[in-house]
Amino acid sequence: MSVTTEAKRIAAEFEYSDVAVNEGVKEFIAQMNEGLQKNATTMSQIPTYVTAVPNGTEKGLYMAVDLGGTNFRVCSIELHGDTTFSLVQSKVAIPKELMVAKTAKELFAFLAKQIELFLKEHHEDHFEASVRHRTTVSTPGGYTDDKAFRMGFTFSFPVHQVGINKGTLIRWTKGFDIEDAVGQDVCELLQREIDTLKLPVKVAALVNDTVGTLMARSYTSPGKTSTLLGAIFGTGTNGAYVEQLNKITKPMEGDFDKTTGLMVVNTEWGSFDNTMKVLPTTKYDQILDRDSINPGIQMFEKRVSGMFLGEILRTVLVEMLNENACSLFSDKDSSQNDYHSTTQILPNSPLHKQWAVDSSILSVAEADNSSGLKILRQFIEKDLGVAAASLEDAQAVKDISHAIAKRAARLSGVALAGIVLQTGRLDPGAGDNPGPKSAAAIAEDIKAGNIGEAAAATAKKLADTTGISGNEEDIVDIGVDGSLVEFYPGFEDYMRESLRATEGIGATGERRIRIGIAKDGSGVGAALIALVAAKMEKMLTASNAGN
Ligand code: ADP
Ligand code: MG
Repeated sequence: MSVTTEAKRIAAEFEYSDVAVNEGVKEFIAQMNEGLQKNATTMSQIPTYVTAVPNGTEKGLYMAVDLGGTNFRVCSIELHGDTTFSLVQSKVAIPKELMVAKTAKELFAFLAKQIELFLKEHHEDHFEASVRHRTTVSTPGGYTDDKAFRMGFTFSFPVHQVGINKGTLIRWTKGFDIEDAVGQDVCELLQREIDTLKLPVKVAALVNDTVGTLMARSYTSPGKTSTLLGAIFGTGTNGAYVEQLNKITKPMEGDFDKTTGLMVVNTEWGSFDNTMKVLPTTKYDQILDRDSINPGIQMFEKRVSGMFLGEILRTVLVEMLNENACSLFSDKDSSQNDYHSTTQILPNSPLHKQWAVDSSILSVAEADNSSGLKILRQFIEKDLGVAAASLEDAQAVKDISHAIAKRAARLSGVALAGIVLQTGRLDPGAGDNPGPKSAAAIAEDIKAGNIGEAAAATAKKLADTTGISGNEEDIVDIGVDGSLVEFYPGFEDYMRESLRATEGIGATGERRIRIGIAKDGSGVGAALIALVAAKMEKMLTASNAGN
């Protein structure tokens, strides 16, 4: 079989139909609700204790730190209250020996020291004032921390969160291994070392990067509409959204502000449908899963995120090479290549190494629309280790890459559609400031006797003049982050295809959904969670004092 025919046949295996999208969305909603009702479900639906999202008018100076792997980042964020902010930051590599320190104290003392250095460099006034305050004021109740910076702590390791600034470490990952930290509250570990140095800093919030993305987008998005969902499509994929508090019926530990009636939920959607009820699958997905360190787990993520798409492509190409009938990357077609040299798979080619093919080649393949696919052929040499690939080879890589990425984006759209429908945010008047109703909704109201003819006429005129999609309150805002969604050409368009195909959203609903890049979740996002936490702390103190 020719390379071209074979590539087209394989690409077709990755097609994900509109019917399948609808089945996917229904199951996504079912599994979301299951996760809200009980523990140990496919989607964890973790309550984050964040009970409000910002609208861009928030003000103040906050701090944020981020411990995610190789680096420790310290920043201060000034929120200007007009959707803009300024950010100062420092970054330091974590010394290798501290990643495997004998005690947690060694690591956290180092982190606190970095916070001290940052404060001395960037906030000397505040720092000095607080030291003076501490040494001159003696209050019966001890040092009051009113003047302390509120700080958000982004900690990207598995934690069991039990309050807005409380969470115990489940296990270390990414090369860290400090045994006595496991089971301890990481916020307390950090606070203890901050207090030892007498720094004017209070760890106010423990932050997940997805929640940070939601908060950052909600603050920076145009207008006052608050954001519904923050979603990450990078190395991994996950989303956090604003849920009605009364839908979370599983037990929740810890105190939180119940007055908003809302809570941000971290879905952990990477493990949606681990039981494979509705997810599409191919021979290549099965090989990837079988050879992974966690077969049967993160099944949605394995079809969607950056860590896996390159590996799916590699698996397909290796299978094609193993099929004797197919002449991929063989010299047969190289008469057509413009190097006039022999096509060959180089020794040490990433094709023969698990995880060695980066997903970015999918973006290159999609972006190269030149007739000779010259750029893609250069990347095939550099990233796949195949010298002088023919045009036919390159076209095959392009077709297969396209199919893998398109399926990933359409699946991502399923997650977005599921959350939009679950939250009912497209329903008339469902926004935080209900806007003018649609003509159909007004007709319903008249029939039900809810409004008089005159009021209906005014409302209709308003609806007609503003137009549904033009009205800010009718917009459903979604923030996204991650290299895949940012750099794969047309990723958003394919997500939108799924939104349009979904019953209950359709073309009208899809037009009302605004998707925007949310930058800096672990900086400004974490700061905003610290702000929400500080407000909550005040409320809880007030209500406890009232008791
Ligand atoms: P992280 O998720 O670690 O915060 P990123 O958002 O940058 O980081 O995502 C990194 C992932 O995105 C990697 O798996 C990488 O293979 C993939 N990636 C990087 N650049 C591109 C690109 N241009 N197109 C598609 N995938 C990309
Ligand atoms: Mg990221």
